[in-house]
Amino acid sequence: HAKDKGKGRYEVFDASMHKKVQNALRLETDIREAIIKSEFIPHFQPIVRLSDEAIVGFEALARWESDQRGFVYPSEFIPLAEETNLIMAIDFEILEKACRQLKLWQDQFKRFDLYVSCNLFANHFFNRTLPGDIMKILKEVGLDPSHLHIELTERALLENTHIVLENMNALKQMGIKILLDDFGTGYSSLSYLHRFPIDVLKIDRSFINNVDEHDNHQAIIKAIIDLATNLQMATVGEGIENLSDAKLLQEMDCMYGQGFYFYKPMPAHDLAKHLQLP
Ligand code: C2E
Ligand code: MG
Ligand code: MG
Ligand code: MG
Repeated sequence: HAKDKGKGRYEVFDASMHKKVQNALRLETDIREAIIKSEFIPHFQPIVRLSDEAIVGFEALARWESDQRGFVYPSEFIPLAEETNLIMAIDFEILEKACRQLKLWQDQFKRFDLYVSCNLFANHFFNRTLPGDIMKILKEVGLDPSHLHIELTERALLENTHIVLENMNALKQMGIKILLDDFGTGYSSLSYLHRFPIDVLKIDRSFINNVDEHDNHQAIIKAIIDLATNLQMATVGEGIENLSDAKLLQEMDCMYGQGFYFYKPMPAHDLAKHLQLP
């Protein structure tokens, strides 16, 4: 009977749904606890100038050192953290720890030429408190705002345009640079790009990986770099995994690069050895 089949299917669906919901609830509880216990830490991935591979800064990438779960990557906690808005607290924890670390490296290695680039979930840009919150952290840490970059995704440009723009302008006024992350994968309407004070486009790694084998990817990268140049923005190529990708990007006048070919994300103590000036 169709009716019985329907019922059977419903029960299977129900059981697996139940497990999923339980897992999500458990994860949410654990994330809440982890925020209180301060278990989220930044790892750092250097960003290089493609012409000479000199480190110009690094991206802070969240990692969860969990009592219960061990070492956890963003793909396992960022989606639920975004859904529950717990990401807001995680972002600030990573930003504060990353700024504190850069300040230590400035004191230790006299590397005042480096910046740290932190990811902020789009919702931060819908809060009027954002510039003040960040200023407070920078003051506490003692880091000059010009050494902080902030990465956001295109989603932040699609809603509440007025307040997003005000927040961006306030951050720019403080001396913070603004990067558009994963460029080319979002809802990229080119028509709005020029309205925002964006300093850098980060070309998504899906276009870059083995770019020499994909003519169409090359065309897209070229178009993004031309667009950035015309809007007086710089470009960072993400996800560079081999020498030929690095060379090709440089030939296409992409100024900066980031990827496993140069450096993987690493904990602070591993990065320190790369910061010693000759
Ligand atoms: P993202 O901001 O685009 O960060 C770059 C991601 O690409 C990182 O993944 C990095 O490890 C990875 N990656 C870098 N070079 C290569 C490469 O050559 N090959 C490959 N296959 N991957 C490469 P990760 O650390 O797993 O982070 C994933 C995403 O999670 C980030 O993408 C970002 O969207 C989000 N995320 C990470 N940390 C934070 C954070 O503190 N706050 C927020 N809101 N999001 C974060
Ligand atoms: Mg990023
Ligand atoms: Mg990215
Ligand atoms: Mg991403």
